[in-house]
Amino acid sequence: MLSIKNLHVKLEDEDKQILKGVDLEVEAGKVHAIMGPNGSGKSTLSYVLSGKDGYEVTDGSAALEGEDLLDMDPEERAAAGLFLAFQYPVEIPGVGNMTFLRTALNAQRKARGEDEMSATDFLKFVREKAKTLKIDAEMLKRPVNVGFSGGEKKRNEILQMAVLGPRMCILDETDSGLDVDAMKLVSDGVNALRDEGRGFLVITHYQRLLDHIKPDVVHIMANGRIVKTGGPELALEVEQNGYADIMEAAQ
Ligand code: ADP
Ligand code: MG
Ligand code: MG
Repeated sequence: MLSIKNLHVKLEDEDKQILKGVDLEVEAGKVHAIMGPNGSGKSTLSYVLSGKDGYEVTDGSAALEGEDLLDMDPEERAAAGLFLAFQYPVEIPGVGNMTFLRTALNAQRKARGEDEMSATDFLKFVREKAKTLKIDAEMLKRPVNVGFSGGEKKRNEILQMAVLGPRMCILDETDSGLDVDAMKLVSDGVNALRDEGRGFLVITHYQRLLDHIKPDVVHIMANGRIVKTGGPELALEVEQNGYADIMEAAQ
């Protein structure tokens, strides 16, 4: 599903190498987690995959279902089925959430050569998704993320994910700043979207999110590389012992 090979990334304006050869394969139907100390390059990896400006790929490749991601515009990546939920969701004053979601969905459908969804059909569709995720329909009428609490923003991202139905979902520190209840809601939302045809990459600094979203594979990233890969037990090991041992062994 997602195939990253020997990915090297530096800052565009500075001579600073951030990713130093990342290799990662996420299969359809699987949840992979990336953990690692602050500054190890986790967010940079998600930014580069989304096509954010400011980074330069100096070597390696990233493909989604065999298609070269790095060659695509951010919109093309989304249309190809990539979705990223960020640590700090943006607020869009003046744009209703419902309008935003329908515009985003129809842009993707159009890019794939599919028919747009009518306003009536979309209303039914989005209400159903909101209900499944236990999201208050009131949230659909408000401007995107404006005045939303941290938990509401995250839940809104899960709703976006459910509406767009991506093949590959990347969540970067979706748990940061969430209380236990909000984290449970977000995790339930993600778990509801787990599917044989969909891959997940869950980036988190803390183990606790992985109590709710059970990963199939756990990777530890340090200093721009994946230094260790294992099962869910690896997250527990980090929780108990910290990153020091793993980083030392990886030197
Ligand atoms: P993580 O998400 O694992 O905490 P980041 O990807 O945010 O790590 O950062 C990796 C390293 O790259 C850090 O040293 C960070 O300061 C640096 N970095 C990332 N993006 C930028 C940027 N736009 N400008 C300057 N430094 C950056
Ligand atoms: Mg960080
Ligand atoms: Mg980060």
